Amino acid sequence: MPDSTPTVAIVIPVFNEEPVLPELFARLGALFAANPGTAWRVVFVNDGSRDRSAEMILAKGSEDPRFELVELSRNFGFQSALAAGLARAGGVDAAVTMDADLQDPPELIPQLVAEWRAGAEVVRAVRRSRQETGVRRLGFDLFHSVFGRLTDIPIESNTGTFGLLGRPALEAFSQLQERHRFFPGLRAWIGFPTADVLYDRQERAAGQPGQTFRRLVRYAVDGFFSFSYLPLRFLTYTGVFVSALGFALGLFFIVKRLLGIETATTGFTTLVSLVTFLGGIQLIGIGVLGEYLGRVYDEVKRRPIYLVKPPRR
Ligand code: UDP
Ligand code: MG
Repeated sequence: MPDSTPTVAIVIPVFNEEPVLPELFARLGALFAANPGTAWRVVFVNDGSRDRSAEMILAKGSEDPRFELVELSRNFGFQSALAAGLARAGGVDAAVTMDADLQDPPELIPQLVAEWRAGAEVVRAVRRSRQETGVRRLGFDLFHSVFGRLTDIPIESNTGTFGLLGRPALEAFSQLQERHRFFPGLRAWIGFPTADVLYDRQERAAGQPGQTFRRLVRYAVDGFFSFSYLPLRFLTYTGVFVSALGFALGLFFIVKRLLGIETATTGFTTLVSLVTFLGGIQLIGIGVLGEYLGRVYDEVKRRPIYLVKPPRR
């Protein structure tokens, strides 16, 4: 448990966030000024931004050393950037994880810290409402309802990255070296005492979401495959069902022949449908196996999940 002045690091992955950074700096600064009982640090992880984000953070850091920058060698994606930031924050009493775009309001952080000081090792910020609309919204809802029902680890449907990890949780987290990472799932997997804080998710303060829809879909598929064997089990069930059907059909034709009931030899349509249907099922099966195999391949290569850029000279 924290002593009188705990050190809390705020870990923020940044990818082309130039337009929101000034407001982010200001709101974090105000937060620090209003909560002097905590030793604050901000760890920005520049995930290969192509704008002036890194320069802006460096400039901020030179006037206020609490603002630090970790630079990755290229764009590794949000999950890897988060892992890099958490690794850099190692040794702090607690780390807050949040997005740079101010959809996660920094003003909530004192509440997260309060829950942690009251004894929780993991604090999740739970959305009371969501700002996304249309396809994105539908996608999120669908993902969460499917994910919640089908995976082996339940995750709260209205949580994202925003939250806090105490030091034991941070240490546990640093042991998870898998490449396909899904933060809310991993956080649930740790299983430490968890508390929730409700909040209203905000509109992105400025700029465009860097996570394209395609990327979000990939992320959802990733989360699903890395936390569930259900697709494999489902294949087995389908196999059992289809063979049972085939067996029954065979039996039916044998009995029919024995009883001497002859019908005209038609059935081309039936045959074609059956062959394509079964072929389709087999291809889907191979695809599902491939999803897992690809993941296994990625994991056994044991490449690091991110690389830090050599320091500027
Ligand atoms: N981000 C990142 N790497 C990427 C894409 C995004 O570090 O390749 C960061 C981004 O700067 C922001 C957070 O991840 O801090 C969430 O991104 P975004 O707002 O684009 O995603 P969404 O809100 O749609 O999940
Ligand atoms: Mg966002």
